[in-house]
Amino acid sequence: MALGRKRILVTGGAGFLGSHLCERLIAAEHDVLCVDNFFTGNKDNIAALLPNPRFELLRHDVCFPLYVEVDEIYNLACPASPIHYQHDPVQTTKTSVSGAINMLGLAKRLRAKIFQASTSEVYGDPSIHPQTENYRGNVNPIGPRACYDEGKRCAETLFFDYYRQHKLRIRVARIFNTYGPRMHPNDGRVVSNFVVQALRGEPITIYGDGEQTRAFCYVDDLIEGFVRLMGAADTVTGPINLGNPVETTVGELAHRIIDLTGSRSKIERRPLPVDDPVQRCPDISQARSVLNWEPTVPLETGLKKTIAYFDTLLRSNTYSQ
Ligand code: NAD
Ligand code: UDP
Ligand code: UDP
Repeated sequence: MALGRKRILVTGGAGFLGSHLCERLIAAEHDVLCVDNFFTGNKDNIAALLPNPRFELLRHDVCFPLYVEVDEIYNLACPASPIHYQHDPVQTTKTSVSGAINMLGLAKRLRAKIFQASTSEVYGDPSIHPQTENYRGNVNPIGPRACYDEGKRCAETLFFDYYRQHKLRIRVARIFNTYGPRMHPNDGRVVSNFVVQALRGEPITIYGDGEQTRAFCYVDDLIEGFVRLMGAADTVTGPINLGNPVETTVGELAHRIIDLTGSRSKIERRPLPVDDPVQRCPDISQARSVLNWEPTVPLETGLKKTIAYFDTLLRSNTYSQ
């Protein structure tokens, strides 16, 4: 095996972020084991990697134990969009919690370094702005988002207890809204919804008054942050915010996408979902100083690439509806 080449497990590797991460790790000449149960992921996302002998795919649910031999683990397995994670909320919590226990048990047996894809949802509907890592959050433990938010919070607890109790090498990233090619066209997330609606000339569905904010990170920037965090000194455990600190309202996003697609779509108002956070934007001072990382892709550039991806997808025969 070449010097520096590692065997790396990516759970959720057939999903949106996971497939980009697998590609990135294969390009760096590592061996990649992609584990996925295809709940929201799909084989098309990793089709280009399948012929590569350094890439291996295993259909497996992380709620069950996994015995493999690897040097590093990126734990991404978990549905991420509200529609998907609320479809089977009990399974979402099981995936976050039992999945974390199994992957931490695996890391403990192998003494492998392990990365957790946590989320800005651990801050809930935040009462401080922008969100820093020491903010403890404002999560409703019994609402419809709780299966995801509390599952991810418990996973963070487990990571830090394995770190303290078993001296595991952990990396916890709190990921803010990320977009790009290979988002699922029907997952209900705002960027994919608006782009698909605009390309089809259908109404753009703004929930609430559209004044709620998010900060959107292009996928390539985020993956660079993952790799830097994994490569940082073992004292860098996180949790560390990874996201783009440029905040925009949902209404502004809709207008940008209409302009960039040249769409004739009209805006349509829909009720705001329960517990929808009003304002979200990362403070990335830690990522800047510790990882020397910050996003470089402007929203317009990233949106153009995402629009091109969905345009091709919607025109292809493989995608209907
Ligand atoms: P995604 O739904 O595209 O990918 C998740 C992948 O995990 C899918 O391939 C799915 O099939 C797989 N999966 C789900 N349950 C599983 C299980 N029990 N066993 C094995 N595989 C399972 O979502 P994504 O946007 O790529 O998100 C990846 C990770 O990043 C998730 O953990 C998510 O919580 C986190 N995250 C994403 C964002 C974002 O904006 N995309 C923001 C914050 C956190
Ligand atoms: N585990 C796994 N693969 C391994 C080692 C452990 O999937 O290579 C799972 C196993 O199901 C176990 C869990 O990880 O229940 C937690 O492991 P740990 O060693 O922390 O605890 P214990 O085995 O004592 O429950
Ligand atoms: N949203 C919207 N229209 C849509 C989809 C989402 O107005 O068609 C809003 C949603 O209410 C939220 C924001 O866009 O305020 C981001 O939603 P998303 O589901 O993408 O992510 P999250 O709420 O998890 O940040």
